[in-house]
Amino acid sequence: MTGEQTGLFDLIIIGGGLAGASLACALRGQGLKIAVVEAYEINTQEQPCYDERTVALSYGSRVIFDSMGVWDRLSDCAEPIDTIHISDRGHFGVTRLTKEQEGVEALGYVLENLCIGQQLYKLMREQDDISLFCPAQLLELKQAAQQVSVDISIDGKTQKLSGRLLVAADGNRSQVLQMLAIGSSRQDYGQSALICNVTPAKKHHNVAYERFTDSGPLAFLPMKDNRCSVVWTLEPEQAEYLYALEDEDFRALLQQRFGYRLGMIQKTGKRAVYPLFMQAATQMSHRRVAIIGNAAHSVHPVAGQGFNLALRDVALLAELVVEAGRSGQDIGADILLQQYVNTREQDIQRVYRFTDVLVKTFSNAIEPLAHLRSCALQLVDMVPELKHQLGRQSMGLAGRLPRLGRGLPL
Ligand SMILES: Cc1cc2nc3c(=O)[nH]c(=O)nc-3n(C[C@H](O)[C@H](O)[C@H](O)COP(=O)(O)OP(=O)(O)OC[C@H]3O[C@@H](n4cnc5c(N)ncnc54)[C@H](O)[C@@H]3O)c2cc1C
Repeated sequence: MTGEQTGLFDLIIIGGGLAGASLACALRGQGLKIAVVEAYEINTQEQPCYDERTVALSYGSRVIFDSMGVWDRLSDCAEPIDTIHISDRGHFGVTRLTKEQEGVEALGYVLENLCIGQQLYKLMREQDDISLFCPAQLLELKQAAQQVSVDISIDGKTQKLSGRLLVAADGNRSQVLQMLAIGSSRQDYGQSALICNVTPAKKHHNVAYERFTDSGPLAFLPMKDNRCSVVWTLEPEQAEYLYALEDEDFRALLQQRFGYRLGMIQKTGKRAVYPLFMQAATQMSHRRVAIIGNAAHSVHPVAGQGFNLALRDVALLAELVVEAGRSGQDIGADILLQQYVNTREQDIQRVYRFTDVLVKTFSNAIEPLAHLRSCALQLVDMVPELKHQLGRQSMGLAGRLPRLGRGLPL
């Protein structure tokens, strides 16, 4: 544990993953006392969020981190995406999005989860208004008219923390949601993502490749040191089979699927497999509780939208909390929580639809459909307005944006 404050806080965040830690950092220096309760130490094998995965951060998310005053810390671990190249293996359709066409510095950035985590934790630990309880276990949660409180276990002792608002940022197996008996709907795609980092022989030139193959989408995202982050969507049995292969055999199969655009794949790193599903909590708020990130919504990584969506939850919630705090209002009031839920609805539904259509259309080997999607890719490439809309969605710039997303401070 760092920080001496225990007891009364304004805000208690359960889960210091990408979403929870980002919220704490967004709210630093705003006159609020913030507690962050995280189950696992960063830099340990158990930590489920800050592992060897990477995140493709949209341009819109970069703007949010910039407005939060955090981008300077993250930019050293960020590799820009200048071009997105979408193709369909064995078919003619290709679409290219470029930063020049969209008039932005980069379409997005690829960062290692661990690097983001290390920077956010460093920043949290530097703040007097943030107390980090880690590793700590949540034992009990109580909601009352004027406050919400939790009992946590840390260093073998039980401590009580109280606040006006509690934020559930504890991922898609949220203990907070279980304690509040909030259910969720879940759609299993019957797919897994096999991820690993590779080094190709040729320069990646900051191109992100999204290649749709008959076994599922395969992404090569540009990383620092000319590495690429590979996200390969497969049937679970295939993913397990590939996971268990010797490096050399795995490399040969990956090469065959991706082709030779980047030359020979020279090195492959550690592999990991994640089951893929879409999950939506039936509620995004409850008495004095707001739900953000994966605890509220998990999406298939095909379009790299999950954390970007979570960061827009963070940006809006931070804005509402700061506004309420400044005008002396209750930051855990029902009216604030309702505004949070209502305002987020449209964006979340749009990302669900966008991701779901991509998964279903591009994971299908039926030939007439494969031909149709190839035509669709070609059409998008030829019609600037369609391409621009795809670009806005991928860059996280579609729809109404919170202040931080518009480049404004809180
Ligand atoms: C293969 C793959 C690739 C992806 N690629 C992208 C991408 O390119 N772009 C993108 O935007 N998104 C991507 N995502 C999605 C992204 O990883 C998630 O959206 C993001 O991790 C959500 O963060 P979170 O903080 O909400 O949840 P989590 O990452 O699940 O973090 C939850 C945190 O809460 C902690 N916790 C859990 N329970 C408790 C408890 N009871 N008490 C205290 N702490 C607790 C956990 O230890 C963890 O630190 C990808 C996901 C996968 C699976």
